[in-house]
Amino acid sequence: MSTILQSVGGTHDGVTITDALHRPLRDLRISVTDRCNFRCPYCMPKEVFGRDWAFLPRAELLSFEEIVRLARVFVTLGIEKIRITGGEPLLRRDLPKLIAGIARIEGARDLTLTTNGALLSRMADDLKQAGLQRLTVSLDAIDEAVFRAMSDVNIAAARVLDGIDAAVAAGLHPIKVNMVVKRGMNDHCIGAMAGHFRHTGHILRFIEYMDVGDSNGWRMQDVVPAREIIDVVENEWPLEPIERNYPGEVATRYRYRDGGGEIGMIASVTQPFCRGCTRSRITADGTFYTCLFATRGHDLRQLLRQGANDGEISAFISSVWRGRSDRYSEIRRGAGIGLPKVEMSRVGG
Ligand code: SAM
Ligand code: SF4
Ligand code: SF4
Repeated sequence: MSTILQSVGGTHDGVTITDALHRPLRDLRISVTDRCNFRCPYCMPKEVFGRDWAFLPRAELLSFEEIVRLARVFVTLGIEKIRITGGEPLLRRDLPKLIAGIARIEGARDLTLTTNGALLSRMADDLKQAGLQRLTVSLDAIDEAVFRAMSDVNIAAARVLDGIDAAVAAGLHPIKVNMVVKRGMNDHCIGAMAGHFRHTGHILRFIEYMDVGDSNGWRMQDVVPAREIIDVVENEWPLEPIERNYPGEVATRYRYRDGGGEIGMIASVTQPFCRGCTRSRITADGTFYTCLFATRGHDLRQLLRQGANDGEISAFISSVWRGRSDRYSEIRRGAGIGLPKVEMSRVGG
């Protein structure tokens, strides 16, 4: 038995595990590919993720069997919500088969997926049939020119909107729509986006541009603070705050006073929410991260492929979580200075 197996040993007792800051392990985000058909400059800028970029070879990706097995172990450790992400998850071949495998796990209460929506029109039905419960679609603008600048590909925003319609027809309504707001790029589209999604039942969530990874050239002056975004919407359609759906929800929720529906705000730069962060992440090659801004991950694929049993994998995950003290967004520049951070396209947002 290898050192990594010997060092963990034992089985988990089924009790909720908490980290060093008393935060329980509740959410799991599984990235199924590091590839993407978009090149959003805030995530996978073309200059970095160009022709020469070495994406993971197939043999290094976790197989569906490995992913389902890990997901099952995580569920025994208290995970309630599983989100499939990427890169672009709809690029992973036969994705509905994976969804079906995860949907069958007893105790996995919420199964959802985040996509850029480009391939959604043709896949929405299969995803829903496979057991997907909810969907988040990223869309940074409806204006075609702005959309192209934000995604840096020759794909129309209209295609993403068609994908949203297909998802609604498939029964995935309401949908969450993620809009990353970047100063000077799409901040003039805040009102148009809000106007478009009012009265649709979909929940538009504005996301502050974050300093994830090391390749997007992030600068504080490019961040449009949540307060400013809310003011823009509120000027046109008065809002009132509403309660969080559950403890640890990252979005602050508001509703239009005129009954136009709900919006959300994810203000991880100006109003960090590390205190309630219950999220864990696995990359497509099976690396376990306990923070979006982590400089180091933990190799679960090695454990799986060395023949570790579920108890050993569970004990390893527990020990990592128990030692977790991440709170990058609260300390920001003071955290991990000089160490390379994991890229968003790898760890999955
Ligand atoms: N490709 C899929 C998509 O775009 O929905 C899933 C993966 S993507 C990494 C997940 C989410 O992260 C998307 O909503 C995206 O807008 C968001 N994201 C990526 N880079 C970001 C950044 N620098 N700041 C804030 N959000 C970011
Ligand atoms: Fe691709 Fe999503 Fe990153 Fe855009 S945000 S480059 S769609 S992974
Ligand atoms: Fe969680 Fe890390 Fe984000 Fe804080 S910075 S909310 S610990 S993922």
